[in-house]
This record gives sequence, C-alpha cells and structure tokens, in this order.
Amino acid sequence: MVSNQMYNKRTKIVATIGPSSWDKDTIRKIIRAGMDVARINFSHGEHAKHSESIDLIREVAEEENRVVAIMADIQGPKIRVGKITKPIELARDDVITLTLNEADGTDNIVSLPHPEFVLDIAVGMRLLLDDGNLEFEVTEVLPRSLVCRVILGGVLSSRKGVMAPNAHLTLSAITDKDREDVEFALSKDTDYIAMSFVRNPDDIRELRWLMRHLGKDAAVIAKIEKHEALENIEDIIEVCDGIMVARGDLGLEVPAEEVPYHQKRIIRLCNKLSKPVITATQMLSSMVESPRPTRAEASDVYNAIIDGTDAVMLSNESAAGRYPVEAVETMATIATIAEQNIWQSRSPGWSTMSQKTGSEAISDAVSESTYYISESLNPRAIVTTTLTGYTARRVARERPRTPILCVTPNETTYRLMALVWGVYPLLVPDFHTIDEMIDVITSTAMKYDIVRRGDTLIIIAGVPFGLGGQTNLLKIHTVE
Ligand code: ATP
Ligand code: MG
Ligand code: MG
Repeated sequence: MVSNQMYNKRTKIVATIGPSSWDKDTIRKIIRAGMDVARINFSHGEHAKHSESIDLIREVAEEENRVVAIMADIQGPKIRVGKITKPIELARDDVITLTLNEADGTDNIVSLPHPEFVLDIAVGMRLLLDDGNLEFEVTEVLPRSLVCRVILGGVLSSRKGVMAPNAHLTLSAITDKDREDVEFALSKDTDYIAMSFVRNPDDIRELRWLMRHLGKDAAVIAKIEKHEALENIEDIIEVCDGIMVARGDLGLEVPAEEVPYHQKRIIRLCNKLSKPVITATQMLSSMVESPRPTRAEASDVYNAIIDGTDAVMLSNESAAGRYPVEAVETMATIATIAEQNIWQSRSPGWSTMSQKTGSEAISDAVSESTYYISESLNPRAIVTTTLTGYTARRVARERPRTPILCVTPNETTYRLMALVWGVYPLLVPDFHTIDEMIDVITSTAMKYDIVRRGDTLIIIAGVPFGLGGQTNLLKIHTVE
C-alpha cells in the first residue's frame, strides 16, 4: 500500500478541515483521496474543536499508514465582521451598518469588533468583504459605527473578512489572538505554522522569536497576500520554510488580474531556492456547491502544477463545502495527469545551473546529476538520506520522473516532507557508517514493499553523517 502511494501522485494536496470534513469518516476518505497536509484555520472555530480535529487526523493517518502533516494557519491582523445569526442578502444601494457595539445582523446591523480599524476609516472609502465578493461605500462615520451603502451586493455571513484598500492601517504583524493561537498550536506540535499578511523577513523573525520564547518550534509558511511581501519576496523566501500564494487577499491588495503574474513569479523563485510552495484559494471554488469542477478550475490546478507548485490547496471546498471528498479526489486526478506532462514542458533553465560556491555548489551538482542519471537509468527510486530535508528538496526541484525517497532518522523532517513535491518520506533508525546507511535503507524499504531484490537505487547523502549541509556522495546501488 505504501509503495502504491509512492508511485501515485507526486503533487501534494493541502486541505482545510472545517465543519464539512472534521468527522472521522470524512477525514479518512480525504486522507485516502490524497490529502498530505491538513490545514486548520485559526480564523474560525475554537481551540477545543481544533484540538479534537488535530487528534483525529493523526489517529486516522496512523491507521492508514500515511504521513499527514498539520498546518496551523494563524489569522494575523485580518479584520472580520462578527457573528451573523442569519446570512444577510444585500442588493445594490441597501444600507448596512458595521458597529463596535454588539449586533448579530438583525436590521442590517453587523458587529465589527476592531476599534483600531474603525478609527482609520473615513467617509467615501470603499470596503471589500469576503475576498471582494461584496463591496460597500462608507457614507457616514459615527463614533462607534460605519454606515455604508452597498455597491456590490451578495450574501454576507459570519466572520467574513473586511478590507479597506485605500485606508492606511496601523496594525502589528502578530495580534494578541495570534499569540494565543501560536501557543496552542505549539502545544499540539503542529508541523507547520502559516503566518498571514507577512510583509517582510522581520515578520517571520518575530514569529520565530515568539516560538523560541515559548520554548518550541515549528516550520514557518509565509502567506503572500500583501503588496509589501511582493516587493520583499526573495528575502522572505530565504528566511521561511515554505510559501503560500494566498490568492484571496492578494487579489484585493493588487488587481485580481495581476495575481497570475505574481503566482508564476513566486513559484519560479521558490523552485530556484528549493523552498516548497503552495498555490491557494479558489482552486476548485465551484465544488463548494457542485460535484464537478469547471473547466477553468481544472486548468488552474493543472497549470499551477506544470509551473512548479509543490502543493495545491483547498479552502472552503473542503472546510465548508458540500463535496469535500470529491474536491480532494478531483485535485488528485488533475495532479496525476499534469505530472505525466510536466517533463515535456520542462524548459532548459527550469533548474538554473548552480551559481553557488563551496559546499552548496557540490550539493547542487550532485542533486542535478542525480536527475540526469535517473533519467537514463530509470531506477526504482532516488534515495536521499537527510537530516534537514534539504537534499530531498533540492532533488525534488528537478522534478525527476523517478520517485524520491527521503530517508531520515529525524521525525520532524519526516513530517515536513509531506509538503514537498514528489518526496516520499521514510523514518529510519539512526546510522553512522555508509554500510549501515545502505542496510537501513534497503531493510526499511523492503519492509514497506517499496523496493525488491534486484532493484536499482540512486542513493545520495552527505558524509560524514550528522553534520548536515553537504551532499557529497552518490552511489548507484543494486538491492541484494
Ligand atoms: P483565510 O484568509 O485565512 O483564507 P478564510 O475566511 O478565507 O480565511 P478559508 O480557510 O479560506 O477561510 O475557508 C473558507 C471558508 O470556510 C471560511 O470563510 C469559513 O466560512 C469556512 N471555514 C473554514 N474553516 C472553518 C472552521 N474551522 N469552522 C467554520 N468554518 C470554517
Ligand atoms: Mg487570508
Ligand atoms: Mg481563504
């Protein structure tokens, strides 16, 4: 079963878990359909429920013999309306009031519990709600309320985001709520923490500092959804452990028409720097209501994979939609088809020859040669032994046809690999010599029926073991 997984799809799927998917049966179906990373969105729901979901996901993943990483998505300084008892239907020119007072949507009065935001709003400003699905114009500013006229109507429901594109807002990167959520996430040992509204590398450093202060650690995904982040993108990629192209809010910060340009550029840069990248938001939107995707959505998923995304993501499709399992299945199917065609569109320069020096140049040369050797030998697997996962990420960026096994004694690395394109992780006992390494690789892989006697493997590693940081050994090994 494990080996089937390895030879199935190579692209990773991140699925948001919410009311439509947090029961055990659905989690099992979603894992079987191909979810590799479960995203828990801390903008919604309570800690008790998140805790329950995280435990369930881990329990089922274990039963299914699958590696599923957990990603805690931290809200950041996002402004949201409060609870709305019954979704409100709004038409053009309707009047709606957003207030700091308690309100539940009755009589078109909705709570907006963000005093610092309300203070920065002036008459005439436009407000975009729910990723731009609704648009209001502020017609009157009262001491505790904003009276608005509806420009673009639609349905407004609980906790939808509010953006003021032409206001100057003074918000810090990590809110009090974020601090509590990070502490909670660390207490649950989530593998990844996704940080919203990152502007620069210092925002990431601030989160890392907070985690160190709390005495724990997690890998950090920077969500790219601010125009400042686009300006600092290379520095951000350098300091984080992965990137999410968060197209929802990004498409409000910059014109939606520009999003594909940024998406492609970010994917290319992440590939170049061997950092995993997730393409997120509205990938299969119509599947919230329908069991089939639109042709445009199928193309979107396919093209992101051809462009080099490591993972594709589902938001409300899996969290709140009617067809969470079908959405994951659809992504997996599109991925499998895209992967058969990834190599045809591999243009020279996908992997620019290393411009690095010293040990990094050696690692790059070994990883790149591994790709060419695997193309001519067609071995059973490329095996990377790694502590940090760097070698596996570096080989994955070449998008080899051959499956990549990441063999590691480090449990954190093992889980983090769930996000990296084409990498199948295996947890093994520690090893100290090259002979021990080969022994551990073959015995573990044979135990899981991943390799058989007579199979050829390309093994790459860094010696001496335990130091990390350099891939300097390449062995072509026939399993005996
Ligand atoms: P973000 O900007 O972080 O993506 P979002 O509001 O767009 O926030 P998504 O995770 O993209 O949230 O999911 C889309 C929708 O799915 C949400 O607006 C919400 O209605 C629903 N949803 C997601 N997770 C939950 C949850 N845990 N509880 C309730 N509803 C949820
Ligand atoms: Mg967002
Ligand atoms: Mg979203």
